[in-house]
Amino acid sequence: MADILTRGITKDGFLKISVVVSTEGCEKARGYHNTSPVATAALGRLMSAGLLMGSELKEEDAKLTIQLKGDGPLGTVLVSANSKGEIKGYVENPYVDLSLKENGKLDVGTAVGAGTLSVIKDIGLKEPYIGQVEIQTGEIGDDIAYYFALSEQVPSLVSLGVLIDTDCSVKHSGGFIVQVMPDCDEETLSKLENSVRDIMSMTEMLSNGMNGEDIIKYVMLGFDVDILESQEVCFNCDCSRDRMFNAIVSLGKAEIQGIIEDMGEAEIVCQFCNTAYKFDKNELLAMCEKARDTSNKN
Ligand code: ZN
Repeated sequence: MADILTRGITKDGFLKISVVVSTEGCEKARGYHNTSPVATAALGRLMSAGLLMGSELKEEDAKLTIQLKGDGPLGTVLVSANSKGEIKGYVENPYVDLSLKENGKLDVGTAVGAGTLSVIKDIGLKEPYIGQVEIQTGEIGDDIAYYFALSEQVPSLVSLGVLIDTDCSVKHSGGFIVQVMPDCDEETLSKLENSVRDIMSMTEMLSNGMNGEDIIKYVMLGFDVDILESQEVCFNCDCSRDRMFNAIVSLGKAEIQGIIEDMGEAEIVCQFCNTAYKFDKNELLAMCEKARDTSNKN
């Protein structure tokens, strides 16, 4: 089944909710990176957050990157989403294996560690917007909620979850965000707090066969909610030979000459999908040529 993002808003406009089911994308990411269960969970949770936040981008070529730079064994976890519902991502150390927490859950918080969460929004302006907060628990849902509260002044309820099957594949992955609009009154807020107090976790909802619309109705029980839209989302890497060629060109002439002398050829691997691109000596010479032209212009 394709991954779907569904959005809803209460009739009074005070609360917005977005739900994403990202099981297929998370499993695809696991396949590309051969991630361990705890790395799959961290990447999957961040991917769900990226898809939820990316869907808010209005501009056609807009991009959103979330970088989780913790001092835990996973190293950096990074995802990049666009407004078309596409996401890609990677974990610096995908093979990390940690013992489970006492409650039997994967210890994503320890795997991520302490550090910073950065959100970079590129909506085609001269400078991208960058928001940065300190990682709170490393469980990612909490950290995204903290980011929204501190950096965007939007109180939010964030739930992200990945359930790993016994064969280490992804059984369920998804998340939701409820956002409180600025003019929301106290009564609505406490009603929301009550309605979400004892709700199931994201993976429990998915395990019960709930889809995006079911989840919206369940989380927003007692509220009059309009379902706005559903959109297919997916893991998709947009790397290409041309892009990699230009990446090497950007290293500069001296660097490329060094590669030609040392190795005579180059291989560059996409960090998002692990596709390897090989370039022979003639192509490297062409890059060198192009790099020199660039430096002359400056
Ligand atoms: Zn790629």
